Formats: sequence, structure tokens, C-alpha cells
Amino acid sequence: MRERILVVDDNKALAKLIAKKMEKNIDMEIVVAHSFEEAKNIIEDNDDFFLALLDLNLPDAPNGEIVDFVLSKNILSIVLTGSMDEETRKLFMHKDIVDYVIKDNMNSISYIFDTINRLSKNRSCKVMVVDDSAPVRNEIKRILMSQQFKVFAAAHGEEAMSYIEDNPDMKFVLTDYNMPVMDGFELMQNIRQKYDKNSLAVIVLTSNDEDGTGAKFLKNGANDYIKKPFSKEELICRINNTIESMENINAMSKFANTDFLTGVYNRRYFYSFMADYYRNNEDSNFVVAMFDIDNFKSVNDKFGHDIGDIVIQKLAIFLLQEVGSKGVVARFGGEEFCVVLLNTKFDDGVKIIVNTRAKIAACLINIKENVVKFTVSIGVTNGDFATDIDKLISVADQALYVAKNSGKNRVEIL
Ligand code: GH3
Ligand code: MG
Ligand code: MG
Repeated sequence: MRERILVVDDNKALAKLIAKKMEKNIDMEIVVAHSFEEAKNIIEDNDDFFLALLDLNLPDAPNGEIVDFVLSKNILSIVLTGSMDEETRKLFMHKDIVDYVIKDNMNSISYIFDTINRLSKNRSCKVMVVDDSAPVRNEIKRILMSQQFKVFAAAHGEEAMSYIEDNPDMKFVLTDYNMPVMDGFELMQNIRQKYDKNSLAVIVLTSNDEDGTGAKFLKNGANDYIKKPFSKEELICRINNTIESMENINAMSKFANTDFLTGVYNRRYFYSFMADYYRNNEDSNFVVAMFDIDNFKSVNDKFGHDIGDIVIQKLAIFLLQEVGSKGVVARFGGEEFCVVLLNTKFDDGVKIIVNTRAKIAACLINIKENVVKFTVSIGVTNGDFATDIDKLISVADQALYVAKNSGKNRVEIL
């Protein structure tokens, strides 16, 4: 069943506009109510809502009375209001609402979408708070949970490191500076040995009297710092900013490093990856295999270019499956892929490659009522004659050339 969002606003035109825009932007079912009474009936009937957008000023609930009711049903709530004075802001932020939105312009509507999308993503996002003070830790944990994060809590750096070890997909760490056993600075240094700023963010909580602490952390790899005491709102905004910039940078680097059709690495990334690998693993064994689909022109001619594209995609997926975590797959051009098996003895690598060729040749692929069959030729080398990446690829290319000239659908080794 699709998840549902409840929109409550007595301004029918606005409620309709929000619902309409939402249906376009968010893959959830939108339910609209125009009064507290109507909303109550809907919720009593079925309270399975992901989130509610609540107008603070309804004819039958002029002072935000609806908020407590909806929160009591454990439904995430964003408050909508025409205006917000400081006192009201504090009052409602103190309740466990996700956020408030002042409905003065269209920007607020897109802010609502961003917030909903963010909350929905946060549900699979692991984060950690590290602080030796249990009350502070619990307060921050509560705030993070209100944003739907999966929250871990640690009392010092060492405990934090063990959580990170067990959860390599942790997205950010919010840490205090002064702690027993391992302080925030040492924790950050440990994290940065393994993770860069875009894979695991570190946000530091500093005290007002610690002059220069923020700068010290930022210079050594922190994504951001927050001065204590902070408001719930500032904490959330800063976390969202950090996550947003991580996502943007990761999206850009994915765009720059991968091939658009197949999603595997492109040739440019492959070269820089291998150059790094060479530098850091001088004595390592690895196996390079250049794949090229045989007679691919005739696949295009027979089935059309679109199906040709799908064949290229299927081959990429298959190669990724075969290689798994043992190495990398890159698309070098049209129907040509390069596969590298890392830390692999030559004989073992050749076995894998030979097997892969046989599996491809034996496979029938169903694409849009067509049954497509194809083979690949493969040139393999272990890089013994290569002093650099260009030479390495050219040896694999020569081996591929031999395979093509010896009848195709075969593996040649140089
Ligand atoms: P060989 O066995 O010698 O490799 O023959 P071939 O036909 O596979 O090789 P050739 O290099 O002569 O032709 C490759 C064809 O691949 C020509 C080109 O139109 C097609 N091609 C290149 N890139 C793409 C692509 O992205 N999608 C599709 N559908 N076809 C592509
Ligand atoms: Mg070909
Ligand atoms: Mg070709």
C-alpha cells in the first residue's frame, strides 16, 4: 500500500494546491481535510499516515489544538502557519514536530517537499551522537529521531569507533569535544583515516568558551561545528545542510565517474583508479581483461539500436555480478568493457574470466519478445610487462585483437 500524507487546512484553495503539487512531486497518497473535526474522523478511521501537514489556525481549533492530537497518534507533523511569533515558534518547536512552515509564498511549498523527501530518505540513514553527558546525548538522540534517522549513541570516541566498525554505512557523527577515553578530536582523526568528508560527515559540538575549537576541527576534516547551547532548529538545519552538500558532491562525482548507459565506471575514472591502485599496491597480483561483444553490429542491425543498448546494459550487470567485490568493471567504449580483478592470482583470475565467457555464450536474453544471444572475445593480461596503466591496457588490447582474429568467442592471454 502507498504511504499516506494528511493535509489539514481550512483554506480550500491552498489545501488543493498543496495536494496537487504534492501528488506530482511525491509518490504518496495525499488525503485532505479542512477542519480539526474532519481530520479527527479520518485519523480515527485509519491513523496509518507517514506525515501530516497541519494548519495552526482552523475554525474549530484556532490555537494549534490539532497538533497535540496528531502527535498523540504518533504521526510526524509539520506545522503550517500564516505567521509565527517567537513565543509560538518556541512552543511548537518544543513539541515533537518535525518543522514549521510559514505559508507566505511558493518557496514554502517547495520547502515542504524537500522536507518530506528528506524525512523519507532519513529512515534508512544511520547517524550517531557521541557525548559523555547522558542528558545531552538523549536530548540530541530525541531530536535526530524526530527527523526519522536511525540513531546510535556513544559516550566516548572509542565506543563510537566500534559502532562505526560495525556500521560502515553510517552517514554522520555528531560529536562532543571533551570526553573521557577518546575525545572528539581523536575520534575525528580516526574517522578521517578511513572515511572522507563525503562518505562520513563529522559535526562537532563546541562550547562557547572553547575559542578556536571550531576552526581547529574544520581545518582537520570536520564538515561543520555547532556551538552549545544550540536550538533544535539550528541543529536540524545544519545537519540538513551537511547531508545536502554530501549528496550533491556524491551525485556530481558519480556523474563524472560513471557511464551514463550502464552505470559502471567510465574510462576516465578507471585510469585514475588504476593509477592509485598501482601507487598503493606495488606487489599486488591483479588480472586485467578487455571484453568486446562479437559482431555487435549485427545485433543492432537485427534487433535495433534500443535493444542493442539493453544488451550492453545486461552485459554490464552480468560483469558486475561476476566480479562482485573482487574488482572493478569499466565501460571503455561502445560494446567494450574492461574488468580488473584485484588481489587475485593470475591462474585464479583466468579461471573466472574463462568461466564468464562460457556463461555469456550459454545465455539467452529475453528483451521485448526477442531472444538475443551473443558472445564476447576477451584479452587477458597480468600486467607483468606493463610499467604504467597505458601499457597495461595496450597489452590487454593486443590480446583481445588476437582473440578476435582467432575466431572470436574466446579468451587470449598475453
Ligand atoms: P567485432 O566482433 O569485431 O567486435 O564486431 P562488432 O560489430 O562488434 O564491432 P564494431 O566495432 O565493428 O562495431 C561496434 C558496433 O557497436 C558499432 C556501433 O554502432 C555499435 N555501438 C557502439 N556503441 C553503441 C551503443 O551505445 N549502443 C548501441 N546499441 N550500439 C553501439
Ligand atoms: Mg565488437
Ligand atoms: Mg568494438
